[in-house]
Amino acid sequence: MRTAPLRITKVVHAILGASSSKRWSSCTASPSHSFGKSNTTNPAARWGTACHLLSDTCLKDKTEPSIYLGWVVGFPKGDLAEVLFDPMFDSGDFEFEVPIDDEQIECATTFVMFCRDLRNSVDAEFMYSEVSVPIDHITKEEGATGYLDLIIGGVRRSPTHNELIVVDLKGGTGVKVDACDTITAYDPVFCVDYSTPQINTQIAMYLSGALRKYDPTGTIYTHVRGIIVQPRLNHISEYVCTVAELNETIQFLRERADDTRDNPVFAPSYEACMFCRAKDDCGARDRSVIRDVTGGFEDLSAGLSDTPLPSLGVIYEHIPMIEDWCNGKRRMVMNELQAGRQVIGAKGSYKLIPGQQGDRKWHNETSVEFILNSSIGEKAFTKKLIGPAGVEKLTKGKWPAVTKALWAELNKYITRADPSQPRIALSTDPAPAVASALDGFEDSQPTAEVGFT
Ligand code: SF4
Repeated sequence: MRTAPLRITKVVHAILGASSSKRWSSCTASPSHSFGKSNTTNPAARWGTACHLLSDTCLKDKTEPSIYLGWVVGFPKGDLAEVLFDPMFDSGDFEFEVPIDDEQIECATTFVMFCRDLRNSVDAEFMYSEVSVPIDHITKEEGATGYLDLIIGGVRRSPTHNELIVVDLKGGTGVKVDACDTITAYDPVFCVDYSTPQINTQIAMYLSGALRKYDPTGTIYTHVRGIIVQPRLNHISEYVCTVAELNETIQFLRERADDTRDNPVFAPSYEACMFCRAKDDCGARDRSVIRDVTGGFEDLSAGLSDTPLPSLGVIYEHIPMIEDWCNGKRRMVMNELQAGRQVIGAKGSYKLIPGQQGDRKWHNETSVEFILNSSIGEKAFTKKLIGPAGVEKLTKGKWPAVTKALWAELNKYITRADPSQPRIALSTDPAPAVASALDGFEDSQPTAEVGFT
């Protein structure tokens, strides 16, 4: 176990980075439009960074995440590297500190165990954690590199199949990420949706950089495999393709990288704008959302009279972007007013008023406990049984409080409420469709596409 702090040095922050490739390859104006805008970190991003650092430490040092419970990941000011340190260590000043807690450990344990199991299940030559690979052959940014989470090389599956594997840890819970992007389109001739898989662009860049680093002559590997592990969503996704197929995606990215410099075009979408630094200050995004909301008409009265709006399904697809845009504008108004600047609308100007009072709570629990204990005794306390999720947490770690046998026994007592509402998904989603009120009426004529007229 490390007794001194571990420092990770990340040198290059590429403008056309692998992790933002989905954005700059669709909205080629985003790199120039967000240039110079600060990359403000948020608690969720710092949580993810801490989890990556913890996983990398365990994979490199052959340790278990649980031994780092209570350690701290410090984030220095500026572009300096984050630091994992024992709380006993005199850490100095950090701008942010993220303590390693049970949830971090659970997430890192899933990833570390997955990587070790994968390494043990294949005939491989090497496995490295947190590796820097070149990406400048794709983006033409001199010296640009990307950091992949885990690489396993020399995986010989047959005499004609030699594979390079990249595994990526996603700590987030907001968006489920797949190792391949599914391009879905509607075929009007056969009246069906069809989908074409294409390797995730971030993974593609890592794999291409890794091939350049570990197979510079292009004679060793025939196939590549990208795997995404998203422990908090219980999600693992993988995609395998030939090196030639990977190179098709890389060629597409090369052309899009050129476009970011020579032919930048705004292309607002929920996926592209969500993590864009320029989103609060982007006229293209504003116009796109306003067009979606008003059905394409600045003059609302014209839109209300006789012009058909898009179908319900098309409107539904725009909801995430509209919601994200609304939240951003609410945040901007709050920031402006807190900074003492005026915000004026058609109804007048806005101001800040006191918010709702928070829940009441004791500010000195020890004193209150003494008073209540001596006056009403046991009535002062409530005793609550922990739920299945709480018990499952106690099965983790080196010395679990709940054994596997006990957990198996307790499983017999677990019941789940039926999902109250079905979820909406594309027809290409692999989950089976739930029964609907129209089931059994297959012979009836299809209803027209629902729209607002
Ligand atoms: S906010 Fe959206 S449209 Fe605007 S630059 Fe960023 S990605 Fe492009």
